[in-house]
Amino acid sequence: MSAAYPSRNVSPAQVAERLRSEKRVLAVSHEAPDGDALGCLSAFLLMCERLGIPGEGFIPGESGIPPEYLFLPRVKDVLRGDPPALPASTTVYFLDCSSLLRSNAHKFPEDVVRVNIDHHGDNPGYGEYNLVDPAAASTTAILYEIFKAGDFPIDDEVATGLYVGLVTDTGRFQYSNTTPEAHRLAAELQECGVDVAWVYRQVYESTPLPKLLLLERALRHLEVRLGGALAVSWLSNDDFVQAGADEGHAEGLIDTLRRINGVRVAVLVRERKTESGVQTKVSLRSTDGSLNVAELAHKRGGGGHIRAAGFTSDDEVGSVLAWIESEVGAAL
Ligand code: AMP
Ligand code: MN
Ligand code: MN
Repeated sequence: MSAAYPSRNVSPAQVAERLRSEKRVLAVSHEAPDGDALGCLSAFLLMCERLGIPGEGFIPGESGIPPEYLFLPRVKDVLRGDPPALPASTTVYFLDCSSLLRSNAHKFPEDVVRVNIDHHGDNPGYGEYNLVDPAAASTTAILYEIFKAGDFPIDDEVATGLYVGLVTDTGRFQYSNTTPEAHRLAAELQECGVDVAWVYRQVYESTPLPKLLLLERALRHLEVRLGGALAVSWLSNDDFVQAGADEGHAEGLIDTLRRINGVRVAVLVRERKTESGVQTKVSLRSTDGSLNVAELAHKRGGGGHIRAAGFTSDDEVGSVLAWIESEVGAAL
């Protein structure tokens, strides 16, 4: 949290008002970006273009962007690595970022104004302006509220970014966050010009072969534990090399683990090479909501939603899995 400004909660109309008068923006989302993160960046930056506001996108780290989202305008040219230098009067918009650390927000200058737009219940409100709505199915659903409140032009390209966040974060309108509002929003976005079948082809039927080869490796390592309630798998650095895959190809693979009959918690641990050695990145899913996986992730410095959460660790795969098994075993 910056010492330079007080922190307060704002409405969609207040964010729209502020956005309208921006000189320049940087849109930031979380590392290992998903469809909501990238849908947000695309829709937000396109809307800024429509409003005549110059801006760029930034995602911390170097891990590959999941290729299924590269069709979204503005996604290919997002900045990576460490936060870029900010030209004067740039406001930073954090989109779908539950924590400061995960978006490298702590690395931005103290005096920069941060607007925090998100739907994670564990978002601590790290912005000077915070619009956090855990009832929203996706962060793109909140962006839609902002755009409507400002009477901004939602054309087919903007609507497509918003729809991608919605369709992916709701598990194609089947997870428990699929509210009547989520369905209504889908209908409204379709009326704005989203070609639903075309988006489906881009996101779910354009899978590069290395991603399927990575899934094959994850399935080879698949185990069910705790009498079938816990599904675990892992991907080593070597698995990525052998599959010809990078980290972006791992996005969504955990969805296959959670499908298994009787599984209540699914875990995928993947190795990631960093400057300081090998790290593990852990994805957690609760299928029936009986275990709050965000609480589990918090114990290891991560976060997320009740049914979808994650953390990173310096421990190796085996010890991370043993810890999870004992925690889940005690809780279920
Ligand atoms: P993932 O398993 O990476 O698809 O993430 C599942 C959910 O948990 C998403 O909502 C993420 O934003 C959140 N999440 C994952 N890793 C972390 C982390 N290290 N810290 C905070 N939230 C996380
Ligand atoms: Mn996300
Ligand atoms: Mn999200």
